[in-house]
Order: sequence, then C-alpha cells, then structure tokens
Amino acid sequence: MARSANQVLRRDQTWSRLAGLIVAVFMLPRPATAAEPADLVLRGGKVVTMDPDRPLAEAVAVAGDRIVAVGTAAEIAPQIGPQTKVLDLAGKFVMPGFIEGHGHFLSLGEQKLKLDLTDATSWEEVVAAVAKAVEKSPRGRWIEGRGWHQAKWKKVPEPNVEGYPVVDALSLVSPDNPVVLTHGTGHMCLANAKAMELAGVTAATKPPAGGEILHDSKGQPTGVFRESAMGLIHRALNRAHRERSADEVHMERLKAIRLATEECLKHGVTSFQDAGSSIADVDLFNTLADRGELKVRLWIMLNEGNDALAGNLARYRMIGHGNGHLTVRGIKRMIDGALGTHGAWLLAPYDDLPSSTGLNLQPLAELRKAAELAIQHDYQLCVHAIGDRANREVLDLMEEVFRQHPQKQDLRWRIEHAQHIHPDDIPRFARLGVIASMQANHATSDGPFVVRRLGQRRAAEGAYAWRRLLDAKAVVINGTDVPVERIDPIACFYSSVTRKMADGVAFFPEQAMTREEALRSYTAAAAWTAFEEREKGTLARGKLADLVVLSGDLLTVPADEFPKVRVEMTIVGGRVIYEAPVALRKQ
Ligand SMILES: [Zn+2]
Repeated sequence: MARSANQVLRRDQTWSRLAGLIVAVFMLPRPATAAEPADLVLRGGKVVTMDPDRPLAEAVAVAGDRIVAVGTAAEIAPQIGPQTKVLDLAGKFVMPGFIEGHGHFLSLGEQKLKLDLTDATSWEEVVAAVAKAVEKSPRGRWIEGRGWHQAKWKKVPEPNVEGYPVVDALSLVSPDNPVVLTHGTGHMCLANAKAMELAGVTAATKPPAGGEILHDSKGQPTGVFRESAMGLIHRALNRAHRERSADEVHMERLKAIRLATEECLKHGVTSFQDAGSSIADVDLFNTLADRGELKVRLWIMLNEGNDALAGNLARYRMIGHGNGHLTVRGIKRMIDGALGTHGAWLLAPYDDLPSSTGLNLQPLAELRKAAELAIQHDYQLCVHAIGDRANREVLDLMEEVFRQHPQKQDLRWRIEHAQHIHPDDIPRFARLGVIASMQANHATSDGPFVVRRLGQRRAAEGAYAWRRLLDAKAVVINGTDVPVERIDPIACFYSSVTRKMADGVAFFPEQAMTREEALRSYTAAAAWTAFEEREKGTLARGKLADLVVLSGDLLTVPADEFPKVRVEMTIVGGRVIYEAPVALRKQ
C-alpha cells in the first residue's frame, strides 16, 4: 500500500513525539537537580551498593522514600539544598538494609513480652528477675520467662537435683502468680508451686510418655519438667490464655508487633520475610499498613490449612500494600521436623538413632494440593525441609508440578532451611530454579551435634552446604529463623563466612561463603527471592531508600571482629528510624 503524505507526516510526528518522550523519560528520573534538592544526603561513607554497575560509592541522595542518586561526594553535592538533611558518615560503612529471609515476626515480639533470662549468670539472678516481674503483675497473672541455662551460671544452685534448681525460692517470691520459665533449649521448664497447683501436679503425678518430672529426696516435685512433661504446665497456661478478653489479646499482639519492630530496626533489618502467618495476623498487619504504622516491610507466607487457603488466597494476595510495607504472596508448608530432636526426615537412619529416619510431618498429598493452589493463585510455595529425604521429596514434587504447568515460568518457589541435602540433589536447586532459603547461624548452633546425628560423611557432603549450592549456581538467601536464633544479621554474617561455633572451632569451614556472597544473601538475593529486585536489595537510583550504617566495614574488618560491628543507623523509606546511642555527627 502506497503511503500518503499524511501518513508520512503522521509517522514523522510520531517519531518526533517519541523522541521527545525518550528525552523526557531520560530526564524524568533525575528529579534532584539544583532546583530540586534531595531531602536527605549521606556522604563521606564507604557505600557498598550491591549494584554491579557501581559497587562502591561515597554518597547517597534520597528524595521522599526513594534513592535519587548514588555517587561521589562531588557528584551528589549539587543536590544539597538549604532544606536537605546531610549526614556526614566519617568513613562509616553503608549498605542496603538487611532483609531477614526467614523469621517469625509476631513470635519475635511475643518472645520479647516474656522475661528474658538468657543473660542470667546465677539462679539468684533468675529469682530476682521474677521477683521484679511479680511487683509489676496483677495478682494471679502468669509470669512467663525463657532462656535460662544452668551452664551459664557461675555456681550450681543450692539446693538442687541433678544440678537443676529446686523452685522453693521462686514460690517464695511469687506465691500468688504462677511462674513458668522455659530453658534456653526449649526442652525443659521450671514451674513454681502456684503453677504446679493450677496444673494439678502433685507428688503422685506420673509424667506422660517421653517426659520427666524431677523429685527431691522426699519425693516432692522440684518444679523441673522435661520434654513432654512440660505439657502438664502448658495446658494450665493455655487455659489462662484462653480466658483473656479479645481486647487484651489485641493489645498484646500490638505490643508484640511494636517490640518485634524495635528489634528489627536495632539490628538493621528493614525487610522481613515472615515464615508463616495466619489470616488473622495478616488482617492485623493490613490494618497497620493502611495507617502507615508498619515500620518494617513484611513479606508474608500464609500458614493456613488447604481449605482456608482455597477460600482466601485470591483475596489476600497483595503486593507492596501500605506504601511498600506489606506483601502476601507465599504459602508456608512443613514436610519434616528438626535435626536436634531427630525429627528431620532422612534417606538413611540416624547414626545415633539407628531405628529412625525421622518424621514426615505433612502428608505429600496435602503438600501437592498446596502446590496446586500456589500455581492457581500465583503464590510462591515455601516448604520447610531439613533432612535429605525431605529435601528430595520437595524437589521431586516441585519438579513434577513445574513439568505439568510449563506455561508458568519464573515461580521462585523456595525450600526453607535446606539444611541437609544429598549431593545428587544439590544441582537440582539451580536447575529447577528452587531457592535455598538457609540460616547460617543454624549451622554454627547445630554444629556440635550434626556429626553425631548424620555421621562424618553425610555431614561433610551435604549439611548446611551453602558453598556447594552457590557453586552449583543456586540462589541462596540468609536469615535467622528468629526467635529460634537471635535476629542479628551481623552474627549470622559471621557464621556465614567463618562457620565458627561458640567454642571457636569452624564447622566444615570449606562450606563458608565469601563476604560478598554473604552480603548478597542478605540483600540483593533476598530481594530477588521475593520478586522485589526492582524495589530493594541494592542501592541505586529509583530504589527504596532502605539503608543501614554500620560501625565497621564488613568487607575488610578481621573476621574475628565481626561481632563488634554495630548497627549505627537504620533508614527505611528515606527516614532515619533507628539511631544507636552514639549518634553520628550531623550537619
Ligand atoms: Zn521457621
């Protein structure tokens, strides 16, 4: 068909309009000119951007909640206006905010509501802490504590049974308030006389199977309950929890969220991937996000039964709700238990329990149903798998689902923990595009018993094998599983790059990550894993201004000095919302 002059003209107009548009588009994302100064400028730092185009810089300029420029001090200088807040960093280390890859946000806060006895160095200190809590508690209210560990005490308590305290002292300081104090390992609790009375425990009470109640020489219970015997006390405690009013429960949940938020910000965690929330939890997060009251950005895996999911997935899927603070697009499932309690599902029996290969917690048919729901509603399936059998079953299942839905690409499904993997399965992560969502500090915490459970060969070949996964080109992200471990990215970074256990011995050090890989696992890789690579994880123009300022340089500080590195400042969406007590000099 011959072109008319009109058509040519139209085409030319289109071109010139297009060219104009290209120029305009080119110009648009540079709002911070001399005429449009930045709201906030950080300068004079060592800025590690995680952006391959510009890995290092000195300064960052922020307007609103976004980064508008990253560069040298001279490059950023024109963007400083009379209203710009300028922070001089004196050489401090700046990086993208940490993204916790797998934690439990509400549980983190709830743990904080309990009496923290982790640092107690004597039984007397524990009793004194409880006495103080009694003063602040209404009569009859349960006092819950956690984290005590007799191995941390300077002397053995007197009197004691098997080295554990006898709770008379606790009963004396708290005659009317039931007290339950959970051991640091979670495998034991202490209950005072009032708690035992409410639980109906007497000298005659027999422990349930798999549990133990300690007694003194007169046959009286000493208040120490091991393993399943803790259930006797927990039942009484849960009865009390159920009696609380809806208002009371709501207020407590809000308090837990506030405490969890404080804990995140103090540790430089600006985004948190939550490994399992209920629909009711999401309703609460949603309300807070609407009001602008969620300070940490949450990415949620829904943890509900398949029927509840089927009825709610479509309605609850949300991306970046509340100005980028709430995303719901994951489904949490759990195929096995933990290695410490012989619950991890293994291909061959435990070395130290030859009668067992562990536990399959959720039937594969149900997992399969959850996978179909995830496909149907465009959610990411995130499955807890610890043992090599568990990991293989999940990989098999995901592979089959992917094969049956070839039109669905780039699903970014995840295996949570991926702790112990058969060497044959390691390359399958990259091949299938399944993400290994690992927690480096589990390796250094579990290290002392891993070889006992798995034997030398299995432990060496595939336990906490992030080096092998990375070499096989898998995406590995990092986190703490808080409150199982403390939410401390720097401690986790230390585990990632040194694999040093508490006694200073490295657990299969050949599996360590490089420092760059460890940083990536906590930033850019974690963002990608959540389909958020355009929003966060690197410091570049257009990204959310989520950053942390650290007192030490994670790329150069001697490895043994990592634990001394502190978070000095946490910035979310361009706002400084945490500053360490030793404040940076401001201009
Ligand atoms: Zn978890």
